[in-house]
Amino acid sequence: MNIDVRELVESAGLEVEPSGAEYLLCCCPLEEHEDKNPSFSISIDNGRWRCFGCHGRGDLLSLMSVLWKCDREAARQRVYGDDRNRPAGPVERIEEALALIAKEADQAADYSEPDVYALPDGAKRLVEGEPAYEYAIGRGLSHEIIRKHNLFTAPEYPNWLYIPFDLYGQCRGWCRRDMTGLAERKYMMAGGMSPSVMFNLDGICGKEEVFLVEGAIDAMRIMSVLPDLPVVAALTSKLSEVKEYWLSKMGVRTLVLAFDNDEAGQAGIRQIVKAVDDAFQIKLCLPPQLDWGACSNTEVQIGVRGALEVGGKSTSLRRSIKSLRSLRNEHD
Ligand SMILES: [Zn+2]
Repeated sequence: MNIDVRELVESAGLEVEPSGAEYLLCCCPLEEHEDKNPSFSISIDNGRWRCFGCHGRGDLLSLMSVLWKCDREAARQRVYGDDRNRPAGPVERIEEALALIAKEADQAADYSEPDVYALPDGAKRLVEGEPAYEYAIGRGLSHEIIRKHNLFTAPEYPNWLYIPFDLYGQCRGWCRRDMTGLAERKYMMAGGMSPSVMFNLDGICGKEEVFLVEGAIDAMRIMSVLPDLPVVAALTSKLSEVKEYWLSKMGVRTLVLAFDNDEAGQAGIRQIVKAVDDAFQIKLCLPPQLDWGACSNTEVQIGVRGALEVGGKSTSLRRSIKSLRSLRNEHD
């Protein structure tokens, strides 16, 4: 279907000026960004946009959902119409899979635990300037990612940053990260949560090639630099059978292992290469530093772009690939 991007955004009240033949320029409509000089650029061809002020970016539906103040699905229906007779495309099938996974997560959760899915009392989204917000920014997370993933704090445990795990649009558990470096354990998971929940499963919906990282903060760090990259966190350096099953249900074909560049990360890679067998095509990418959190923006981009099929050739990754190859041979 041909969409007149200019007509559509203007009908939603956005004042735009053409910028060359390919782009429209306007002030940033995102709520968090008070933009006085137009720094928001929209592709006339496909509606993808980016803001050079706040570094936000996205596609036509994310822009329309901002302008219309509605969710993505409502925007999709308004833009493309709600044709229920249309044959199910891959994305619809994935939506079904996501609903199924959410149901299974519900069944797997232990409801005898009182705090399954429940946010702690007084849970509050991060506020700019407060210590938890500054901590998240200090870990390299962008304002947009902090907002998008609803990071929060709870008064009872002020030294912990809470990261919710949304699945099918609902919070299905959370973990918390110690911000002081003094706690016995860096991370704690909500009790009773299904151990198979991953971080950002919603965000990889419909993507065939997906980056798998260890921690939620790794995932958010990468997406702070590359917001459109589908990244999911295993929440450990292993991939259980259930998680593998869910990823394949989601339609993932290629799994890009992007674990930490340390012993545990390498062990995780070996475990997964042995375990998944031929379920996924496996690619490998390594953070140029020990982990993604220690990488500069440029290093994150370099690391991600360096993703290679296992079995490919690259000087920097040769050693890992060599060990992966020998593992595959052992496995066979
Ligand atoms: Zn902006």
